[in-house]
Amino acid sequence: MSTPYRAPVEEILSALRATGLGDVLGDLDETTVADVLAQFGRLASEVLAPTDAIGDRRGVQLDPVTGTVTGPPELTAAYRAYADGGWQGLAVAAEHGGAGFPEMVRLAVEEMFTAANMALSMLPVLSQDAIKLLTAWGSDEQRARYLEPLLAGRWSGTMLLTEPGAGSDVGALRTRAERGADGCWRLTGQKIFISWGEHELTENILHAVLARTPGAPPGTRGISLFLVPKVLDDGSRNGIRAIGLEHKLGLRASPTCVMQLDEAVGELVGEEQQGMRAMFTMMNPARISVGAQAVGVSERAYQQARAYAADRVQGQVIEDHPDVRRMLALQRVGIRAMRLLMYATANAADRGPSFQTRLDLLTPLVKAWPTDLALELTSLAIQVHGGIGYVEETGIAQRLRDIRITSIYEGTNGIQAVDLVTRKLPTGALGELLDELAPTATSSALTAGRAQVAELTSWLLAADRQDALAGATPFLRLAAVVVAGHLLAREAASDAEAAPLSAFFDVEFVGPALGLAGAITAGAGRLDGVL
Ligand SMILES: Cc1cc2nc3c(=O)[nH]c(=O)nc-3n(C[C@H](O)[C@H](O)[C@H](O)COP(=O)(O)OP(=O)(O)OC[C@H]3O[C@@H](n4cnc5c(N)ncnc54)[C@H](O)[C@@H]3O)c2cc1C
Repeated sequence: MSTPYRAPVEEILSALRATGLGDVLGDLDETTVADVLAQFGRLASEVLAPTDAIGDRRGVQLDPVTGTVTGPPELTAAYRAYADGGWQGLAVAAEHGGAGFPEMVRLAVEEMFTAANMALSMLPVLSQDAIKLLTAWGSDEQRARYLEPLLAGRWSGTMLLTEPGAGSDVGALRTRAERGADGCWRLTGQKIFISWGEHELTENILHAVLARTPGAPPGTRGISLFLVPKVLDDGSRNGIRAIGLEHKLGLRASPTCVMQLDEAVGELVGEEQQGMRAMFTMMNPARISVGAQAVGVSERAYQQARAYAADRVQGQVIEDHPDVRRMLALQRVGIRAMRLLMYATANAADRGPSFQTRLDLLTPLVKAWPTDLALELTSLAIQVHGGIGYVEETGIAQRLRDIRITSIYEGTNGIQAVDLVTRKLPTGALGELLDELAPTATSSALTAGRAQVAELTSWLLAADRQDALAGATPFLRLAAVVVAGHLLAREAASDAEAAPLSAFFDVEFVGPALGLAGAITAGAGRLDGVL
């Protein structure tokens, strides 16, 4: 029997405080935020979490005749409780009909939702990203038509980028958009791996589809973005439907669809051939949300491991064995570090244009490092369980299966590392951030980490491109660990209870990360003759 999830509201609140919640509250106060999080915590623990194992066991089914995708009714009811509670508009500006809470609070809600039911949580996250797209790029008319049903949770959103020949290389996509005699755009092509591409939980789905218009240049420069509703205004079905569902390692309650577009009616969002810029309005927040998935799922796995270790006796209760305590401590401290990094990123998002370069820097860090680490931490949670952890009934294996996708989607972690080294390092934002955090981080490990990041940044910026790319992934890990270590140290400087966590992180995370320098500077030559 799986340990029930308990939303760690106080833990989250303290992480929000430690990463600058007070600076972004505006007219709101902390008590209101605490009330909101407590309320969502109850929904997550009592309503959303109990449906998680049901969704994993029963999955989703496609009716090949009607193209309808259905899943367990328990998940539909859980989604309704979320939508009817008005949560979808939490962090949407009041002028667009939302409640105007900061991104930091939205991420806190997302962390709890994803821990409770990661597969279901992707549906509102995608809708949230569609709302961001509309508020940033939609015309007044598009906002008037689409924002209200998305905010109410009666419609949901999707992102249709990936095609069989276009994954990391989005610029290779082939879906065509052509203007018909009636002046409307019509889209034809096939998209794969589309999360929540078809389902019955909402009355309509607003697909955001990347496509190429006639005469567009090759690559990402020639891409435009279209809104394609599943059901048209007159109630008829648009020419877009699911023709297949993937059978996956995890995330089984989230339909991952092959979508066929046959002259589907679409509306341009933003300008023609500016589609990638508009799509990044959805993708960048989505990358931060993936970081929140790593935190939430690791937290839930930790709760399960902690409860099991307190109960299981082998000679003595296993939590008293130093090696088991070590595994639990790695989880506890790793989660705290990821959480601080995530909320520091959300804080940069809340602070507006003057923090854009910092947000741009932190986005690949928060997407990639926590998702790699979550795989290690959920695996450790299984290890704490011993053999029974490998048995599905405990529910712990689902954490590892679900989290595995996070280092792949929303731009693989390899792509995040390339982005960090080629686009974010040249801005100097990493050095600036570490300089700002330096006064509160006095440990020798962090001082060495800062010096090493500075030295390696210079090396990477001067290196041959292939050499720099060959060192990008270990550099991302080092950079993220050093930044997260500083955030923990800053917290420890004002909170004595955090000091053991910071010291543990220095030994178990910063120390090993310093050892990556050799792999970062060994260059592409080290790969020669190996394969
Ligand atoms: C469950 C699930 C849900 C998904 N949801 C969506 C969705 O809603 N919408 C959507 O559009 N897509 C979605 N995807 C697709 C996902 O975003 C892609 O799988 C991902 O972008 C990787 O593309 P690919 O699978 O073609 O892998 P590839 O691009 O073929 O990558 C294979 C490997 O090569 C590496 N690689 C490729 N190019 C480079 C490079 N330039 N530099 C370094 N390494 C490189 C990658 O890092 C990876 O390790 C989903 C996928 C899954 C499995």
